[in-house]
Amino acid sequence: MQQRIAILGSTGSIGQSTLEVVDHLNSRCRVVGLAAGSRVGELARQAHQYNPACVAIADSSRFTELSEALGGQCTVLNGERGLVQLVEQSDCDCVVAAIVGAAGLPATLRAVELGKTVALANKETLVVAGSIIMPLARRTEANLIPIDSEHSAIYQAMHAGRKCEVRKVYLTASGGPFRTTAVEEMENATLQDALNHPTWSMGPKITLDSATMMNKALEIVEAKWLFDLQPEQIEVVIHPESIIHSLVEFCDGSVVAQLGTPDMRTPIQYAITYPERLPGCCKPLDLVHIGRMNFHAPDFEKFSALRLGYEAARRGGTAGAVLSAANETAVELFRAGGIRFGEIVEINKQVLEQHEFVPEPTIAQLFAADQWARNEVKQCLTC
Ligand code: NAD
Ligand code: MG
Repeated sequence: MQQRIAILGSTGSIGQSTLEVVDHLNSRCRVVGLAAGSRVGELARQAHQYNPACVAIADSSRFTELSEALGGQCTVLNGERGLVQLVEQSDCDCVVAAIVGAAGLPATLRAVELGKTVALANKETLVVAGSIIMPLARRTEANLIPIDSEHSAIYQAMHAGRKCEVRKVYLTASGGPFRTTAVEEMENATLQDALNHPTWSMGPKITLDSATMMNKALEIVEAKWLFDLQPEQIEVVIHPESIIHSLVEFCDGSVVAQLGTPDMRTPIQYAITYPERLPGCCKPLDLVHIGRMNFHAPDFEKFSALRLGYEAARRGGTAGAVLSAANETAVELFRAGGIRFGEIVEINKQVLEQHEFVPEPTIAQLFAADQWARNEVKQCLTC
């Protein structure tokens, strides 16, 4: 039977790679829904090519333009509500959650409520609301399969044993473009420097998060929720070659790793076809060509974002929502030239310190914490 896929964030880096995987898988899957933020031209082009039942655009000011471009070809849905309606109406079995930031949460939450298979790239959804999403997925039997390469690796390696046999996990990190840069130079890095990732080609926000290592901080929180781990069970290892995507250590001392060329189409395909494995479309790994792999401990002084990740993972509650929202806002400010690179993590730290912690928040309290953090970042700048 054909798998019916809806892609939230289809115009982005993960979204486009997902469509390449769909092409590669040929008639095994069919695209029934496409959603994006504001890039109408690209979204319309995709809709013409894949002919989905529903298309949604988050930016309401572009709705008319999209409707006109699609001329009644499919249902066109509008705004944030439209993304949720796309999940409800497109008759999909699998939702690929590839929107960037907390904007991806409402539609992903709806997919989990409806018990869909969720191939999850949008890590911010779990960072913000892992405490709600994970128990909900257990209740609705929604299958949540990570696309984030480290978490896909852990998910795969976990199959080598039982959950109770896991001692710890190692999240690998490339170290980003500033791994060997002096701190002072890094603090004043330009946008162009920060967007120059050594091993992965990704959207701008995650690329900047990799440069501050906030990406790894968010991934610590993501791993805690996905795999039900204590923060002490999660260790970050710098591995500049990005060949080992992460590792699981079992109680007998065996360490199981997943390796591959750094290409997101592998974890995307795994998430879509799970539990099956089908021939992939990426270059095979050539270990002899790689020759050697390196590992070292992260520098917590230089990349203090990592501490914030552990803190948010330890505290749970509203801490993840606040950290994620503060970071999104600070990254936007950096991109707009409003703050220096070094201020991103500093602002995140201040906002996390100042927030009034709620240990067991409702979804409304999480949205409120997110909104509070965004406002607080802007206030930080004026005081
Ligand atoms: P991207 O910026 O390339 O694409 C983002 C997508 O989200 C676009 O389709 C955009 O239109 C859409 N979008 C943006 N704002 C929106 C809004 N307010 N409402 C609805 N849609 C909106 O980002 P990306 O690199 O593809 O990353 C997507 C997600 O996947 C992120 O959460 C990221 O952390 C995660 N991820 C990405 C990679 C990667 O290799 N790119 C790897 C691991 C995890
Ligand atoms: Mg990752």
